[in-house]
Amino acid sequence: MSQAELDRRIHQVLSEFELVGPFSAGYPVNQDFDYSALNPLLRFAANNVGDPFGHSRYQANTHETEREVVRTVAELMRLPPEKAWGYVTSGGTEGNMYGIYVGREMLRNPIAYFSQDTHYSVVKILHILNIRNIMIRSQENGEIDYDDLRESIRINRDAPALIVANIGTTMKGAVDDLERIRGIVEDLALTRYYIHADAALSGMILPFVDDPQPFGFDSGIDSIAVSGHKMFGSPLPCGVVVTKREYTAQIGRAIEYVGVMDTTLLGSRNAITPMIIWYSLTKHGQDGFRKIVAEMLDTAEYAVQRFNANGMPAWRTRNSPIVVIPRPSPHVLFQWQLAPLGDIAHLITMPHVTREMVDEVIADCLWPPTAT
Ligand SMILES: *Cc1c(COP(=O)(O)O)cnc(C)c1O
Repeated sequence: MSQAELDRRIHQVLSEFELVGPFSAGYPVNQDFDYSALNPLLRFAANNVGDPFGHSRYQANTHETEREVVRTVAELMRLPPEKAWGYVTSGGTEGNMYGIYVGREMLRNPIAYFSQDTHYSVVKILHILNIRNIMIRSQENGEIDYDDLRESIRINRDAPALIVANIGTTMKGAVDDLERIRGIVEDLALTRYYIHADAALSGMILPFVDDPQPFGFDSGIDSIAVSGHKMFGSPLPCGVVVTKREYTAQIGRAIEYVGVMDTTLLGSRNAITPMIIWYSLTKHGQDGFRKIVAEMLDTAEYAVQRFNANGMPAWRTRNSPIVVIPRPSPHVLFQWQLAPLGDIAHLITMPHVTREMVDEVIADCLWPPTAT
């Protein structure tokens, strides 16, 4: 095929992307980024196979940058960097799988507990890892039902508990209360438990607000998965998983062929995504993220006010950019790529979502205007 023909397909895809970009208001994906400075790296067969904290025979890697990303994210998640281990994953699902896997290895034959509002990846992971599990009721606001959690753990007190806590649910942005969860397991005198936090989106929001809900290792979590393509913004799906160094010592196996410790779930791994997350972290810095987060939460509050002023009962959880609204028409769902669930849907004011876009979504929800 000629280059001109190849270019035609590339431009076709490009124009499709350009067309939908300005109307993306429903997914928790930050589109406000420019990583073109990293383009020259795409000329190499880079690969981060193996443990980023170990030695690798494959030399075109970015393990050093990956370690820097893990340490910075660990610190944001309130774990001293020297106590942290982790790696850059292919996304939230792999981070959840790794955290839950570590929990299973640490506990031996646990029962996993997670709420109805937990991301669908968790049920799949528990199935793949063959972990007994109990789904706990959710409250109306999306948080786990603590009474149901207490009762379920109580009647299974003989089994260690692997709790998957939501630090921001996908649909409602709800944050499970880590202090209450810890209170429950300690009340029941459970000696063996492990808390994995699924913080896909809010993991990079809560460190930058003034009054965060408990979210980090200082609140008793044992591992956390944060997404890279959600809050950081990335053209390639990715994420970061962080756990305690002492745990992973028990899990790795040395593999002679690549000369690395095989501590990661995947073998060959993306070497560009650690550069992307590093670039975002370093370019913005903590002050930059503070500003970005403050603005997006302001826009979310603006959206709630505007929907309510127009007679639509919208709401959001504290510190969340997810604005829950009554399910609009199929046209509005499609036009703005809003994700529906039953009789609700949500709009998410990620950094690229402006107040003008919010106004347009509301105008579309109100159309056609009803005669009064
Ligand atoms: C998006 C999301 C995930 C999964 O992330 P992927 O990158 O799609 O694998 C997991 N948990 C929550 C709460 C999410 O919002």
